[in-house]
Amino acid sequence: MNIKFTIVLSTILIFLSFDFAISQNDFCATNLSQRDQVYERPTSNIRSGEANRLDRTLSISLHMIKVNNDSIHLKPDDVIEMIDSSNILFERIGLSFRVCSIDTIDNFNFLKFDVGFDEEMFIMNYNENTINLYIVQGVYLADQYYSGYTLPPGLEDIIVLAELSDLVFAHQIGHFFGLYHTFETFFGQELVDGSNCEETGDQICDTPADPYQPTMDFLLSFSLDGDCNYRNDLQDSNGDFYIPPTDNIMTFYSQACKCRFSIEQLNTMAEIYLNQRNNLW
Ligand SMILES: [Zn+2]
Repeated sequence: MNIKFTIVLSTILIFLSFDFAISQNDFCATNLSQRDQVYERPTSNIRSGEANRLDRTLSISLHMIKVNNDSIHLKPDDVIEMIDSSNILFERIGLSFRVCSIDTIDNFNFLKFDVGFDEEMFIMNYNENTINLYIVQGVYLADQYYSGYTLPPGLEDIIVLAELSDLVFAHQIGHFFGLYHTFETFFGQELVDGSNCEETGDQICDTPADPYQPTMDFLLSFSLDGDCNYRNDLQDSNGDFYIPPTDNIMTFYSQACKCRFSIEQLNTMAEIYLNQRNNLW
């Protein structure tokens, strides 16, 4: 396999200046870490247009948290059902997930998981070589609620979920295997014509440029019609109108519209798995 990598230093973005409640349930704390992350990004082998199959099922260690002596927060069966229904989203690369163990954490304080403060939760029940999935009531960063959080490639195999949604789970799996939001601007603003798609935006070329920004001005002006078509007249610096991928899992558009990863996104996840998370079985 001829895989060429570049090292990208990605200081994870901070979107913290966003403190009003929106009826979006896919808010995601994953890119909000202040830690600098260095990890390898595949630059070739992902843009062939063909899905690179892994044909692999990865194990999940499911960690449920006790609410009191008698009960736990949410039902393991519901988590298993969520994972089962998310598996279809990864079918094209032959990747799937299954729960291999279930345990409980006897500390209700972790139900409200504070990023940067509650990481001791991970030490208690961490199972090597599996995806450690912690089910909480809320992920909090600077007192803002988020429905999911994960550590990017190069760090521990951890996902935290506050909502049992196959889309939220799949979105976190995307970050877990190195995907960025489609509206990422840390690397520069992607152009609608795609001419700089490899270096800017989410560095994925089959997800069109996405102008989404979590700011009040943007949200007040943004709308999708009933068919999930983008109804803004925003233009990029070339004067081209944006046509963002409102159906993509790594966007922040309506859950009702999101249903897929692109081929390059799937291939990126496969490459990151093979090269940086291949301890998972
Ligand atoms: Zn996210």
